[in-house]
Amino acid sequence: MTRKYNFCAGPAALPEAVLLKAQAEMTDWQGRGLSVMEMSHRSEEFVGIAEKAEQDLRDLLNIPSNYKVLFMQGGASSQFAMVPLNLLGQGGRPNYLKTGVWAKKAIAEASRYADTHIAGNCEARNFTSVPAQSEIVLSDDAAYLHFTSNETIGGLQFDYLPESGSIPLVCDMSSDILSRPLDVTDYGVIYAGAQKNIGPAGLTLVIIRDDLLDQAMDVIPSMMSYRIMADNDSMYNTPPTYAWYLSGLVFDWLKNDVGGLEKMAEINARKAAKLYAAIDNSHFYGNPIAVANRSQMNVPFTLADDALDKVFLQEAEQNGLLNLAGHRSVGGMRASIYNAVPEAAVDALIAFMGDFEQRHG
Ligand code: PMP
Repeated sequence: MTRKYNFCAGPAALPEAVLLKAQAEMTDWQGRGLSVMEMSHRSEEFVGIAEKAEQDLRDLLNIPSNYKVLFMQGGASSQFAMVPLNLLGQGGRPNYLKTGVWAKKAIAEASRYADTHIAGNCEARNFTSVPAQSEIVLSDDAAYLHFTSNETIGGLQFDYLPESGSIPLVCDMSSDILSRPLDVTDYGVIYAGAQKNIGPAGLTLVIIRDDLLDQAMDVIPSMMSYRIMADNDSMYNTPPTYAWYLSGLVFDWLKNDVGGLEKMAEINARKAAKLYAAIDNSHFYGNPIAVANRSQMNVPFTLADDALDKVFLQEAEQNGLLNLAGHRSVGGMRASIYNAVPEAAVDALIAFMGDFEQRHG
């Protein structure tokens, strides 16, 4: 085996079949004598690639025609600003659920533009369970309710859809989009950086209900305007064409190789269940998150003695298990088990963890 098992939180593992296809097409895309990287974004070839990617995504998520799909740049972090800039032009307060590191960053950015209202907060319990619906209180003048469906660092995932009545729901779905089916019509805006479940870094996906396209602040930069991006089919300027192409290969893989999001969700649930079971069945490994809110994508865990962390990581790497260190802000371990991480990788990790515990526990 030359390719190792990669548990990186992002940029994350890509399906091997996708990499092989990209490799085969790298220098000469479908006999046209040039690579996708060298094509004009306005060429018939690339427009075809872009349209197929969007259609496959629409099929996977059942995206209705009154939603626009935007292929943007700047990462999810730029969306932290774009959401308020695009949605607060008619006033109202942005409402946020505070669930961990990424929600806090979104809140800090929105607070540059408006007086944010924290509509739900689980900081007092150290972000170990999401705010319950009964704990969520919107402000009277809420313009939208923003939440982070999966906190990538904390390993905290919503197990229910927050209810916000007629107020649009805005979701940072960076680390769990496409991991399970969802009903797009529940949301006003969904956004996600590509580098976990979509494709390579450099592309940011936005799915937006079309009645929300015209609520931007006057000062909004053109490149940040959902309206301008929508009117220009995400080609107002030169888009990240290769990342768009590779993301299209991932959508095709999900649709045709995996067989859709129901199938993907089944596999993901199985992978997560066995890894959490291995953690719970040992006295050596631990995870603090309430069972219902444990992330199916990012599994943080600690060792009984953190002096062993370095040895664990070294031995894991020697065993072909890469990128298991927790985020630099929290330490410990984290196994990110996105769509493209095969079940065999999780099995190998569990076997290694058992062996490590026997020798060091
Ligand atoms: N939101 C979440 C949930 C994330 O996991 C990340 C990246 N790890 C971000 C936002 C920021 O994404 P980007 O690096 O694309 O700006």
